[in-house]
Amino acid sequence: MRATLTVLGSGTSMGVPTIGCDCRVCMSKDAKDRRTRPSVMLEYGDAVVLIDSGPDFREQALREKIRHVDAVLYTHGHADHILGLDDLRPLSFRHEKALPLYALDSTATTIEHIFRYAFDAASTYATRPRVKMNRIAMDGAASLDLFGAEFIALPLLHGEEEVLGYRFGTAAYLTDFSDIPAASMEKLRGLDLLFLDALRRRPHPTHSNLENSLRIVGELKPKRAFFTHMSHDLMHEETNALLPENVRLSYDGLKIEFAIA
Ligand SMILES: [Zn+2]
Ligand SMILES: [Zn+2]
Ligand SMILES: [Zn+2]
Repeated sequence: MRATLTVLGSGTSMGVPTIGCDCRVCMSKDAKDRRTRPSVMLEYGDAVVLIDSGPDFREQALREKIRHVDAVLYTHGHADHILGLDDLRPLSFRHEKALPLYALDSTATTIEHIFRYAFDAASTYATRPRVKMNRIAMDGAASLDLFGAEFIALPLLHGEEEVLGYRFGTAAYLTDFSDIPAASMEKLRGLDLLFLDALRRRPHPTHSNLENSLRIVGELKPKRAFFTHMSHDLMHEETNALLPENVRLSYDGLKIEFAIA
């Protein structure tokens, strides 16, 4: 089964341009240097699955004309990945039961705390998001069957915090990590398409940088790789010119086809 991955946002937590910054990337006229907060959409069969719903989700959904969403998978509980949850409301109201969300225990706890009015069983707020949290129990890699496609949740390290990346068919999406445990690396072989964190050039305590992500691509050898979660350190065209031909910076609105099942 073919699927389309759409990059809803390719930027780091602060977005690019960054508030108050007039560096040459933030001032760039190239639309590909404008990066909203990180998230991707997967479309296959009749299904639409999101990975994360960040603070720019509303603008991203309007831009991509999203009409329905069937599930949201979360990578972790940082603001740039979860704060658009309330903007799922108009899409969640179309669900007879509730829009299913999937997250690690720790991430689910953070989301339920921040959006207490949406999850509290005692809440009587009528227009709260109609969502249902499903906690992913981690015991090595967890597997989810969503609308005929298998999603494998892969533990990654984001500084000291355990977060998730996801593999689905011949593609994988790994945002926000500084290290990939060996067991997760093993599950990332034989990919056609790999999206991975490459925050900037210099090393960072909780994110992979350009050099480290190139090393990972060299080890996993996917057919194509795209970097994401990029800061204003990386100018689109200029950085692309330095990369191997099968590795590119992603950008908001990029669409790529791949086999999901
Ligand atoms: Zn992030
Ligand atoms: Zn800047
Ligand atoms: Zn993060």
